Amino acid sequence: MDAIQMVDLKKQYQKIKGDVDKAVLDVLASSAFINGKPVQDFSSNLAKYWGVKHVIPCANGTDALQIAMMALDLQPGDEVITPSFTYIATTEVVALLKLKPVFVDVDPETFCIDPQEIEKAITPNTKAIVPVHLYGHAAPMEEILAIAEKHNLFVIEDTAQAMGAEYKFSDGRIAKAGSLGTIGCTSFFPSKNLGCYGDGGAIATNDDSLAEKLRMIANHGQKVRYYHDMIGCNSRLDTIQAAILDIKLRHLDEYNKARTDAADYYDESFKDIPQITVPFRAPYTRHAFHQYTLKLEGVDRDGLSQYLATKGIPSMIYYPVPSHRQKAFENFGGASFDLPVTDWLTSRVISLPMHTELWKDQQDFIIEEVKNFINGL
Ligand SMILES: *Cc1c(COP(=O)(O)O)cnc(C)c1O
Repeated sequence: MDAIQMVDLKKQYQKIKGDVDKAVLDVLASSAFINGKPVQDFSSNLAKYWGVKHVIPCANGTDALQIAMMALDLQPGDEVITPSFTYIATTEVVALLKLKPVFVDVDPETFCIDPQEIEKAITPNTKAIVPVHLYGHAAPMEEILAIAEKHNLFVIEDTAQAMGAEYKFSDGRIAKAGSLGTIGCTSFFPSKNLGCYGDGGAIATNDDSLAEKLRMIANHGQKVRYYHDMIGCNSRLDTIQAAILDIKLRHLDEYNKARTDAADYYDESFKDIPQITVPFRAPYTRHAFHQYTLKLEGVDRDGLSQYLATKGIPSMIYYPVPSHRQKAFENFGGASFDLPVTDWLTSRVISLPMHTELWKDQQDFIIEEVKNFINGL
């Protein structure tokens, strides 16, 4: 059995090495390292895949969120509703832009922002909601979009962990996570469902004028070179990364299927263990399984993680400290937020190895060792 990785990028690369190597060499030969043709090609292919009119590539997922918030003309002090149970990037950009993060609790089943808690947190200063499709499970967008419409709020979807996840509306319409709100943001960090070989990100919207503005902000606020109409930033997707992503995009559905197959196998193996709750799958979504995250009850979670490590099995806690309890958010009233579900999850979740190259013998070993620990063997 090969060594078990949390994410196995090497084996995935080996399978597409011929195509990737050629694409990278082509970029080197063209020497169009910035804004080369692959950047436009990938952007339009991604727009097709994502089901959106415009895709604006950028340097990383954090920039995508920042540029989205800049483009919506949010003013210092405006309130942005966000989960605390997420990666720091989601909440960090809110603070960076001097907006006010309003942390709300998540649903214990979906791990995503709880629409009822959003309603309670809305004030006259609320301007936007940032749902995060955490671990690849879509947030309850239909309810979130209805709240946003009622209160005239923007919706910025953090789709960094859910590229390819689908959302089914009650009228049967199916669309991709990240294509549903005002703006969708994603990351191509190597370990994400659609990952490049460095940093990368993208922003999606169906709004023409917003697309133009997003594009300008990502490019120093200019449309015509050296004429700067607004304050922007410098956030580009490298041509080499775009060329790699264009190849990997063709495999994304098959990658997500491999993740789902691995999740199915874990689910089946853990279903009779009372201390384990396997990831919930809401009927409205097709999960992208960026992570496979268990909830444990009556198990020493950190002890399990350490035990697995001694057996050569990596595991991760996403996330040990939620945003509102981070030192960085002390000055934003972080600790004043009362988020019992978030705190509860923080001490009970554990993510097991999940990627496209996970083999049955590896999973059998992981499952057996998890059971051994729980049964005190
Ligand atoms: C990875 C991630 C980001 C940030 O993406 P980067 O490309 O690393 O900047 C934002 N939000 C979530 C939920 C993420 O998982």
